[in-house]
Amino acid sequence: MRALIAGNWKMHGLEAQLDEIETIAASVKASPPAVDVLICPPSTLISRAVQKSAGRLNIGGQDCRSEADGPFTGDVSAEMLKDAGASTVIVGHSERRKHYGESNSMVAKKAQAAWRAGILAIICIGETATQRREGQALSTCGHQIAGSVPDEMTLAANAIGYEPLWAIGTGRSATHDEIVEVHAYIRKCLVTRFGAKGRNLRILYGGSVDPSNAREIMALPEVGGLLVGGESLKAKEFDSILRVV
Ligand code: 13P
Repeated sequence: MRALIAGNWKMHGLEAQLDEIETIAASVKASPPAVDVLICPPSTLISRAVQKSAGRLNIGGQDCRSEADGPFTGDVSAEMLKDAGASTVIVGHSERRKHYGESNSMVAKKAQAAWRAGILAIICIGETATQRREGQALSTCGHQIAGSVPDEMTLAANAIGYEPLWAIGTGRSATHDEIVEVHAYIRKCLVTRFGAKGRNLRILYGGSVDPSNAREIMALPEVGGLLVGGESLKAKEFDSILRVV
């Protein structure tokens, strides 16, 4: 499986921000990187981002509700994301778990909704600073995998996103040792659960990835890609991250 480098714009971006997509798409056209590229803008920009990307980039959503439609004011379904041109949806991001109380079982239902709609899922997990301090980083991730990853998660193009909460938006990425340890543990959980198919699923690292640390993180064992927040908003920085493989 090729590595995946995904940009999560979070709640950033008005129309002018689409210029960054145009710039990245042009660069990818001129010189295709050795990785799959995904950008997840706010849902208001998805269909315009698809147009601007001119087929050069994958565009995804940042969340979906598990139902296909219904009386859920403000929510977006996986079918709606697909209809807007999204190929993928991030589910279970720690910001959603924290601000909206999303449980592991809700996250699992969202991943199933993505597959029902015919798009891929990036299922996010990660421990808090307290959990790490108390020696519970691995058990937390194991528990989240057990509860948030459905049994149907076998297609290699799907991904697990490991994002330690204390590394998100702090400018302090996890150390190489920390990343290697958790990614190895996630791989073990996936292989125990899914056998050979669990070997191919991509495990992405996220948390303060930038052009200065991306290459070394990508070279670590079991790192199958990156989830980039802040640095994905800037075409120049994100494009240089795409070039680290
Ligand atoms: P930062 O790259 O801004 O730390 O965000 C990481 C993230 O949450 C991506 O989903």
